Order: sequence, then C-alpha cells, then structure tokens
Amino acid sequence: ILINDILDLSKIEAGQLKIKKEPTTVRNIFKEIIPLFNETTEQKNIIIELEVAHNIPQRILIDRNRIRQVFQNLISNAVKFTDKGSVNIEVSSDYSKDLKKLPISKQNIDLTIKIKDTGIGISEGNLDIIFENFRQIDGQDTRKYGGTGLGLAITKQLVELMEGTITVKSKFGEGTTFTIVFKDVEVVETSKKTIKKDDKQKITFKKSKILYADDIEENRSIIKLFLEGEKIEIKEAESGEQALEILKTYSPDLILLDIQLPGIDGHEITKIIRKDENLKALPVIALTAHATKEKIEKYSPLFDEYLTKPIEEDVFKQTIAKYLPHEKDNNQMKPEIKQENFITELIIQKKQIGNFPKGVKIVFKNELEPLYNKISQAISIDDLKQFTDNNKNVGKKHNISGLIEYSEMLLSTISDFNFLKIKELLSHFPEIMKIIYE
Ligand code: ADP
Repeated sequence: ILINDILDLSKIEAGQLKIKKEPTTVRNIFKEIIPLFNETTEQKNIIIELEVAHNIPQRILIDRNRIRQVFQNLISNAVKFTDKGSVNIEVSSDYSKDLKKLPISKQNIDLTIKIKDTGIGISEGNLDIIFENFRQIDGQDTRKYGGTGLGLAITKQLVELMEGTITVKSKFGEGTTFTIVFKDVEVVETSKKTIKKDDKQKITFKKSKILYADDIEENRSIIKLFLEGEKIEIKEAESGEQALEILKTYSPDLILLDIQLPGIDGHEITKIIRKDENLKALPVIALTAHATKEKIEKYSPLFDEYLTKPIEEDVFKQTIAKYLPHEKDNNQMKPEIKQENFITELIIQKKQIGNFPKGVKIVFKNELEPLYNKISQAISIDDLKQFTDNNKNVGKKHNISGLIEYSEMLLSTISDFNFLKIKELLSHFPEIMKIIYE
C-alpha cells in the first residue's frame, strides 16, 4: 500500500495523473466500498450508515476510480479512528428533479459528501497538519493505528484534481466530519419516458464502425452511453490531426465530428475528406454547440448532417440510422398474444379427464361466479381474498393445477398491491369459467 501511495502522490505532483470522467452512479460506489469494512466494523461493533438523498441524479460524470479511492481512504480512516458509535455517509445535492428538462437532460449540480464519525476526534491544533504528506498526529499510538500519514494528502490532491474541495471539522474526543464538495458536476440522466418511447420503435444497430473526433471527453462518454450495448465500434480521436491520422489505416462507416476541435477544426477536416478520392463518400455528421443560422447555412452543404448539442438520444440514433445498417423493431408496439400458463394447464387437464367433476362446477356456480361478478363491479380486498382462497381450495381439493397456479398468481399480485396485474388476472376468469362449465 505504501509504495502505491507514494507512486500516486508522485504522479499527481508531476501532473501525470489524468482525470477520466465517466457516467457514474454515486450510490453504487459506496455499495462497493462499504462491504470492504464489514469485518472490521463487526469486530469493533460499530456501523456504517449510508444516506443518499432522493434527489441525487442517476448518473453523473466523474472519475469513478479516483472518487472511489477518495471515499475509501476517508471511510478507512473513519473506521480506524472510531471505537464506538458509527460512521455516517451523507450524499446530497442541489439538484432539482422538478425542473423542466429535455428528454436527455444535461444539467450541472453541486454534490456534497459528508463522512462523519463518532471517533477519537482531532484537536484544533492538529487540524491543519493532517493533510500534509507523511503527517500523523504527534504522540499517536502507531502500534494501534499504523498508517503512513499519506492517505489524506493523496485524498486532498485527488479531490482538488477533480476540481472539488475537502474540509474537516472535528471535536477532540467526539468525532470528525470530512466534507467534500464538487461543484458543477454534469448530470447524465436518461428520463424513463424517453426510454419507453424509444422502446416502441427500438433501433438495433448491426455491426459497424464509427470514427468520433471530439476533444471533450464528457461529450464522447455521452455518445458512448447512447450506443452502449450496440454492435458499433467507436474509434475516438481528440483532435483533427489525430482523426486524419486514424483515417489512413481505419475505414469507418461514419464520421462524427465536433466542429470546435483544436488545431484543424471540423470544417477543415471535412474539406480534406471531401477532396480525398477514397474518403469523399464517407458520411460526416457534425456535432456543434453553437449553431447559428448563418453558420448552418454556410457549412451544412459540407456535412451530411448537422446536430446541435445537447444531443438527444432519440434524435441521435434516428440520424445515424440513416447511414448505418440497423433493424427497427416495431413488434413491441403490438400487444403480445400469449396464452397464460394456467389456461393451458386447464385445457390440457380437461382433455385428459373429459370433464371436470360436478363438485367443481357447483363451487363455481354458487361461490366463484357471484364473487367474480361482485368484484367486477367494485374491487374490495376482502372479496378478492375470498375469491383467491376459493379458487385455491377447489383447485387443491380436486387436483386442478391450473386453478392453484391462478390463485397463487392472484395472491402475489394482491400482496404487491399491483392493481393493474390484478385486473389483468381477473379478466381471464370468464375463460376459466368457460373451460370448467363446458
Ligand atoms: P494515516 O491514516 O495513514 O496515518 P492519513 O493521512 O490518512 O494517514 O491521516 C493522517 C492523520 O490524521 C492520521 O494519522 C490521524 O491522526 C488523523 N486522522 C485522519 N482521519 C481521522 C479521523 N477520521 N478521526 C481521527 N483522526 C483522523
């Protein structure tokens, strides 16, 4: 651990450590880290509590591995220096889900993470030194606590590299709170509505290749997120020069081009492509943040398509689908015609035995049919329970597996309060009656 710490620190100090932002679910990071301390917390009889505010967006763009390292260091210290009580992790943000948003929203948030412990605390005079390299508090029991005095130095450097701040508050003998704030973190959230709409006419891409030039990593990760799970290979370039270099050996089916590239910009690259005998037929889609009307009119003949940021997943997929092999799945719009299992079982059993026993028909006529009619008017939980029990009893008594299954499905949907599913199951009852009576 020590060697790794020193390596990390020297890399950070040499400016060699690059931040790699990816769409990340903050809650999952803690879910990964906390179990690492299970053994220690059990031994010490302390607990780690996690409170993630309900308004934390699903995914944000941060360096997943580095942020994990930061939290792991802080939680490790909190557990180490706490002998009774708890470690409490609180994640909050100023994010408002109520804001009217685009289907794919890009909105920045301030994210605050507090790691509180009820441990030994740090005296005021020592609060300043704990972030320094190789610093531990004087007189600290090294046998008991071990450590290198590097953890917090690295943690602070990492947080600052990710453009965040870390502060500490502590009361000697009472506990310590570390607070990390990341301002202006980008949110990557796909609203559920859009996914549903997409599902109705889902585009599935076949094998193909894209060259994507954009100097901003966040933009690239969003596009990659859109194409997650598709059979599309994406080759990334961070500059115009690099894109042209790649094109010498790589033949994509489509080029995605950010216009404001450093060096040779998107317009220049496209001009070069259009003059090249081998490349000129390649579809080029321009992505741009600032599309004034004049600009579009001036340059659009150069490109096959012109998309303006923030780019919506739906529009993006429809657009590239014009140039890439794909399938459109319309079937999902049609309701599935599928026979329920319990119906199939009833039909099979009827074929085997010719007719259901008289006792079954009597129960159906005298109890189940009236109950069903009553429920059809207005559903009450008591009637539903009665209806379910009657189905189950008659099924069990006469060994009718279809009815037993039907009642079990009903029972589980009732306990889930899944009224849609209850209604759907009830709608099959006339079919059941028909099979029983005939
Ligand atoms: P290490 O834990 O390896 O000694 P760190 O840089 O992580 O090094 O921490 C430096 C010092 O800060 C620790 O030795 C300890 O004295 C103090 N410290 C850090 N976190 C806590 C905490 N949660 N409670 C009390 N003291 C702490």
